[in-house]
Amino acid sequence: MAILLKDITVDGIRKDMLIDKGLIARIEPQGSSALWPLAGDLEIMDCRGKVAIPAFVNMHTHSPMTLMRGIGEDIAFQQWLSRIWKVEESIDYDYVYWATKVACLEMIRSGCATFNDQYWFFEASVKACEEMGLRIATGYDVMDKMDPAEAERQKEQCIAKTELFLNGKHPGLIYELNFHAIYSVSEQMMLWVSEYAKKNNLNLHIHLSETRKEVEDCKALHGGLSPVEYLEDLGILSDRLIAAHTLWISPRDIELLGKRGVSCVHNINSNTKLSSGYCFRYKELQDAGANVCIGTDGCASSNNLDMLEAMKTSALFQKAWRDDPSAMPLDTLMDMATINGAKALRINSGVLREGARADLSIIDTDSTYFLSEGPFLANLVYSAHSDCIDSLICDGRFLMREREIPQEKEILHQARKVLSKISQKQ
Ligand SMILES: [Zn+2]
Repeated sequence: MAILLKDITVDGIRKDMLIDKGLIARIEPQGSSALWPLAGDLEIMDCRGKVAIPAFVNMHTHSPMTLMRGIGEDIAFQQWLSRIWKVEESIDYDYVYWATKVACLEMIRSGCATFNDQYWFFEASVKACEEMGLRIATGYDVMDKMDPAEAERQKEQCIAKTELFLNGKHPGLIYELNFHAIYSVSEQMMLWVSEYAKKNNLNLHIHLSETRKEVEDCKALHGGLSPVEYLEDLGILSDRLIAAHTLWISPRDIELLGKRGVSCVHNINSNTKLSSGYCFRYKELQDAGANVCIGTDGCASSNNLDMLEAMKTSALFQKAWRDDPSAMPLDTLMDMATINGAKALRINSGVLREGARADLSIIDTDSTYFLSEGPFLANLVYSAHSDCIDSLICDGRFLMREREIPQEKEILHQARKVLSKISQKQ
């Protein structure tokens, strides 16, 4: 079914927008739609006073961690990670399926249509997203913890699952490969999965240079090489690599990440909450040629999946540590949260123009936050909260309309059931 958004504001101008076959078919001045030849099965929404923005692309998360909030509060990264790995021993397909549905609810509410995920039982997340209508980038996740037998088992599984999911039967899935990090995956396994990704023209999604300790340990183990230099040495840096964090990086690292066109994902809420750091060099990375994006990370570390909140915190920290109020322009911030992610995932999204995928949020400006004549983006990012998002469209379909998401109550009920099973096991 086609959708007509009548009198919706786009980039400060009132327009009519026609959405058809998953795409933005027309955007013309308000009133133009009276002259358009429109099909009978058309859903019309009167959007007077409302504003359209591209849906967010959350470029790094672990969606099933929505059910792990609070299991590691006020502790340092290493201790936190050990606790997570312990809990993960008891999760299963059912847990991941319902936890991803909870994540979908939260992402839909906060205006995100596409997210880049890394987790176990990814098939369950794919199924959850297909049912909820969100677009997910995910795939087999490699983490052998330096165990050669486990590495062999994972290689076999990775090949089998990749062949299964590269069959074109999952239009909402951007299949990619994942490896956790240089300290949890053996060198031989990193080389193997990187080669296998290249052979199949797939993105590779990893954690990189997240903590000072990771860098110090890597230098001690690999003849003074930083994690970025180490991956360069292994031939793993490329424009198909999505590296979460890249927080502890030297000028040489920045040069390499830029030269190879790596997509670097900033996750400020997770980094600050775990005290990993906050001096993310977005500008230096961008100037060097890297593609800089924003993610929330999983709810076990950042506690929610709200991209607007991540954008605000990112900007505030940039301004603070650089001692420069102009350190993060709003347009750049918006690009990092939308079109840069779309570029990394190679989808025609993250922008409102004719021919692009119809992935957009409709913002209700009828609230205190939008009364003043400030720049709209400033009101959106610095003043409002994501409850100003009235509706979300992904691939030309409403996933939320006037704050209503189908089956929300049922999902919460099932998630509580899954959680009670896990706590009984522990
Ligand atoms: Zn992560």
